[in-house]
Amino acid sequence: MTEKLLEIRDLHVMYRTDDDEIYALNGVDLSVEAGTTLGLVGETGAGKTTTALSVMRLLPDKVGIVKKGEIFLEGRSLMRLTEADMRLLRGNDVSMIFQDPMTSLNPIHTVGDQIAEVLKLHYPDLGGDAIEAKVDEMMGMVGIPAERKGEYPHQFSGGMKQRIVIAIALACNPKLLLADEPTTALDVTIQAQVLKMMDELKRKFGTSMILITHDLGVVAQICDRVAIMYAGEIIELGTVEDIFEGRRHHPYTIGLFGSIPDMTKKTRRLSPIEGLMPDPASPPSGCGFVERCPRRMEICFGVSPDAAVRGTHSVRCHLFAHPERGATTR
Ligand code: SF4
Repeated sequence: MTEKLLEIRDLHVMYRTDDDEIYALNGVDLSVEAGTTLGLVGETGAGKTTTALSVMRLLPDKVGIVKKGEIFLEGRSLMRLTEADMRLLRGNDVSMIFQDPMTSLNPIHTVGDQIAEVLKLHYPDLGGDAIEAKVDEMMGMVGIPAERKGEYPHQFSGGMKQRIVIAIALACNPKLLLADEPTTALDVTIQAQVLKMMDELKRKFGTSMILITHDLGVVAQICDRVAIMYAGEIIELGTVEDIFEGRRHHPYTIGLFGSIPDMTKKTRRLSPIEGLMPDPASPPSGCGFVERCPRRMEICFGVSPDAAVRGTHSVRCHLFAHPERGATTR
């Protein structure tokens, strides 16, 4: 049996504002097996980044609050660790790559110093020469000559800056890498290079990864499993084959695929998903997708669907709990 590295159980996260309490996660269940990549897909506001920040325990202080649920890393509850233990765990066991390399790097320190900083924090016994050697190794690993370690972030292109961010994230060889839209800020050709490099490094080190993205093409290239997220819930989960080749899907997943251009078909217009995600301050009482769903039924307005599981594939939709109404196919 495959070993679970990360397990998230029934996670509910609330953001408190001056006027409102907004639920960003409404019972997320997820797991990542050792050495595998999970793609977390969904539109802006679905709760993808909140899920990753919860794992890192980096939700904004006093604003982002875990109301319920548990997160385990190798069986150890992250919710129960002290802040000092969490600081050691970040970088060592779990690292995160943020979307925009411009804001992830410190403009007044050289890139070499920024890689060295994490090494010094996590390996206090390493001498200066060993740290420098490791900095050189990490720079080489992400394809940047070590001679450039004395330069500042502004002297690098966007793609190179993101490579340095990846070098920092991988410097301590974490077991789990949370990559939050790591290539969104880059142009398309550089995106492909950075993704290929991340995939190679992941294989080399045996790192597990959660790749947060809205790009299904990226998911198909490098993920083993896919979780589709909508309004703070995982609404469909399965292997890449279940999601890309299977024929039973949540209506939202069908909408996502319908919004992608297909070069093999003559289509005059794409089919976007009409409407907007529900206001998290006043979510619907039944299915979160009900206002936009072309297959909605009476039950969908009042009853939140449970996940219907079949093998490695699960779908949270009444159509699957009531198969007599017909499965949803793409
Ligand atoms: Fe549509 Fe109902 Fe399924 Fe929600 S539960 S996705 S409203 S059919």
